[in-house]
Amino acid sequence: MITAVVVGAAGRMGKRLVALIREGKDLQLVGAVERAGHPDLGRDAGEIAGVGTTGVPLVDSVETALRGAQVLLDFTAPAAAMRDLEAASRAGVAVVVGTTGLSETDLARARELCVRIPCVQSPNMSVGVNALYGILAQVARTLGDGYDIEVIEAHHHFKKDSPSGTAERMAQVLAKALGRDLGQVGVYGRHGIVGERPPKEIAVHAIRAGDIVGEHTILFGGMGERIEITHRAHSRDNFAWGALRAAAWVVGKPPKLYDMLDVLGLKVP
Ligand code: NAD
Repeated sequence: MITAVVVGAAGRMGKRLVALIREGKDLQLVGAVERAGHPDLGRDAGEIAGVGTTGVPLVDSVETALRGAQVLLDFTAPAAAMRDLEAASRAGVAVVVGTTGLSETDLARARELCVRIPCVQSPNMSVGVNALYGILAQVARTLGDGYDIEVIEAHHHFKKDSPSGTAERMAQVLAKALGRDLGQVGVYGRHGIVGERPPKEIAVHAIRAGDIVGEHTILFGGMGERIEITHRAHSRDNFAWGALRAAAWVVGKPPKLYDMLDVLGLKVP
């Protein structure tokens, strides 16, 4: 059994991770962390997750929770995720970062820290979404420049970052497959007299509504036809199962910043 710490353990994703670790056979929960001042500190992580007693109380110190752990799973917020990476790097513990909204500076620092530890970082841990990246590149290359590409994502109204890291990654994969620079052709929403659509534009649109778990549609619009490829997450469990798969995979790997494609053995442009 691999010993695991969940940070953000009373959050939406954290609770599902705690519950599924209990259900699965590969990992054992040895630590559960929440932010200082969280009202559930001291309570059993399993009880917070609605799966009974685990014997693991919620604490606010990552350093304490990391003792005896082989892997840390972080689903929190960017500043907390970076703090966790620093702590895990000092302790020599592998990491899975699911937190989205990391900046380029954060990612550069993560790469520095991963000289000492292996870490899987991915804004989308869903196996289905990661399988889709390769398919999108293939469709884009086959269709070529004659089709307009629009990426439409929808998430619950609590989501803090926009567009989703997944939509951004999809746009990057599509741009690279077509030899375009997303910095030049990327458009994020439209408003006002924007004029005719330039043919090489890759547009990304974000919907925020209710409790939508996560949906991504990639639309290739041609003359007389269109293709729409959609991934819909039905619950957070698909992200959580992917994160647990990443956690079991990353322990014992050489130090490096990996992503979910490495876990699944997939290659995309
Ligand atoms: P949430 O707000 O329900 O949970 C986040 C939890 O982290 C909260 O309980 C909060 O108190 C805790 N937290 C914040 N700062 C902390 C700190 N300094 N130390 C310890 N805990 C801290 O959010 P959520 O829906 O669970 O999502 C969490 C993150 O995971 C977001 O960035 C979200 O976008 C991302 N996410 C990623 C994937 C993926 O597949 N990679 C899937 C779903 C969500």
